[in-house]
Amino acid sequence: MKACPECAGELKFDPARKQYVCTSCGLSLNHQDMDDIREKTIASDPDEERERRRKDYLKWWSQKK
Ligand SMILES: [Zn+2]
Repeated sequence: MKACPECAGELKFDPARKQYVCTSCGLSLNHQDMDDIREKTIASDPDEERERRRKDYLKWWSQKK
């Protein structure tokens, strides 16, 4: 089960919107948001996390065009 980052409520996947929606507060998260949350949870070294997020951002930026 996935937990909401805001209220720790249950997240349910909504196939119509391709998003996770919190059953408690209604927060909706896409896959990118879920990846960010997972990274935050796993990351232990702040510098390492910052570097990874920078790379992710560059990747996202290059794919955007
Ligand atoms: Zn919530």
